[in-house]
Amino acid sequence: MEIPFAESYKIKMVEPLRRSTRDEREQWIKSANYNLFNLRSEQVFVDLLTDSGTGAMSHYQWSEMMLGDESYAGASSYFKMKEAIQEITGFPHFLPTHQGRAAENVLFSALIKSDDLVPGNAHFDTTKGHIEFRKATAVDCTIDEAYNTTLDHPFKGNIDLAKLEAVYKNNPVEKIPMVIITVTCNTSGGQPVSMQNIREVSALSKKYGVRVVFDAARFAENAYFIKMREEEYVEKSIRDIVLEMFSYGDAMTMSSKKDAIVNMGGFIGMRDESLFREASLYNIMFEGYITYGGMSGRDMNALAQGLREGTEFDYLETRIRQVAFLGRLLRDAGVPVQYPFGGHAIFIDAKRFLPEVPQEEYVAQTLAIEIYKESGVRAVEIGTILADRDPNTRENRYPNLEMVRLAIPRRTYTNNHMRYVAAHIINLHEKRNHIKSGYRITYEAPIMRHFTVALQKV
Ligand SMILES: *Cc1c(COP(=O)(O)O)cnc(C)c1O
Repeated sequence: MEIPFAESYKIKMVEPLRRSTRDEREQWIKSANYNLFNLRSEQVFVDLLTDSGTGAMSHYQWSEMMLGDESYAGASSYFKMKEAIQEITGFPHFLPTHQGRAAENVLFSALIKSDDLVPGNAHFDTTKGHIEFRKATAVDCTIDEAYNTTLDHPFKGNIDLAKLEAVYKNNPVEKIPMVIITVTCNTSGGQPVSMQNIREVSALSKKYGVRVVFDAARFAENAYFIKMREEEYVEKSIRDIVLEMFSYGDAMTMSSKKDAIVNMGGFIGMRDESLFREASLYNIMFEGYITYGGMSGRDMNALAQGLREGTEFDYLETRIRQVAFLGRLLRDAGVPVQYPFGGHAIFIDAKRFLPEVPQEEYVAQTLAIEIYKESGVRAVEIGTILADRDPNTRENRYPNLEMVRLAIPRRTYTNNHMRYVAAHIINLHEKRNHIKSGYRITYEAPIMRHFTVALQKV
C-alpha cells in the first residue's frame, strides 16, 4: 500500500471552531455589507483570509516568549534576533520593526524620492502603497507567463530581464533607487523566483549601479521551490539556498508574520553600514529605538526561533504539500485554479468559475461571498475591488485576473479541513450556473477600499 504523507508535528493545544448554518451565514454576511473583512472570526469555520500572522507557534517559540528581555536598550532578545538574522540571511545589519509594511516605510524613507522608478516582479500592495505614497512609480517587470493561470511554468515569479533592462536603459540611474525582488511573488499567486533569475537580476542591476532589495516575506518557501525545481539545488540544504539567495541582494524587508511564523513582527536586513545608519534614524522616529523597533523582547525571541523553524526542510515540506493537497482536490474536480500551485495559497480563477457574472459586478468578490455562504470558509478577493481606482481618472482598474485566494495559515488546519473546503467549493462549482449576477458598491474609501468597502446585491 502506498504510504501517505504525514505532518512533521503533532498538536499540543487546540482552539474550538464553531459551526454555523447557511441561514445564519446569509444574515451575517448581509450585516457585514458583503465585505468578508467585516465578519467576526466566530462567524467563520475555516479562515483562509490570510496566512499573515495566523500561524501556530511551536512549543519552542512559546518557551522563548518566557525568556524575553524587555529592557529598552540592548536587550538580550535583540541580540538573539540579530544572531538568527545573521546566521540565516547573512545580512550583518538589521533593524526590528513591528511588521513588514513598517520595514518598507523605514527603508523607503531612506531610499525613495518623488518621481523615482522602482521596478520589480509584481509588487505587493503595501509595497506599492509605500512607493506611490512617495510619488514614485512601481514598474511591474514580471514575466508574461505569470498571467496565464493554466500555463505550467516552474518560476512564475521571475523578472523579465528585457523589461528590466528597458527600465534601466531609458531612465537616469539616479531615478532608480532599487529593484525589488519579491520572494515568493505574492501578487502573482505565491509563485517562486528561480536562483538563476535572482543571479541574473543582480548582475544586470550591478552593471547599472542599481541596488537589489528583497521583499522577503516568504523567502523560505521560495528556497523550498528552488530546491525542488532547480536541478543544481536538489542536494543543497534550505539554509544554504537561503544564504545564496540573499548574497545577491543589498537589503531585505521582512514581514515576519509569514515565514518567521510569528503573530506580529518584521525587520530590515542590510549589508551597508551607511544605509543602516540612515535607516536607523527613521526607525527611531517611526518604530522605536533600534534595539526593539516596535517589538517586545518576548516577540523578538519567538521570531528568532521561528526563523530557524521556518527554514527547516521538514516543516516546509509539510506546509507546501498541504497547500498542494487542497489545490489538487480542486483541480482534479475541474475547479479552475492557478497552476502550478503557489507556496502559501490556492488561487481560484473567478471569471472561469462564474462566466455569467460581469467583471463590473465584482466577480471574484461574488465568488468569495458564495463560498462563505455555502461553507463558512472565508477567502479573499484579489480582483477589481483590491485593484482600486486609477488615481487620476478615478475609473475602476480592471485587472487581467479576477482571483479568489484561499491562503493557508501555517501549522493551523488539518488536511480534513482542506477536504471540507474543497468539497464545498466543488459542490458550488457544480451549481455555478445559478449564479448570474454580482454586487455594486455603496461605500468606498479613497484608497485601500477593499478593507472597508460596503456592497449591495445587484
Ligand atoms: C505581508 C506582506 C508584506 C507586508 O507585511 P505586513 O507584515 O502585512 O505589514 C509585504 N510584502 C509581502 C510580499 C507580503 O506578503
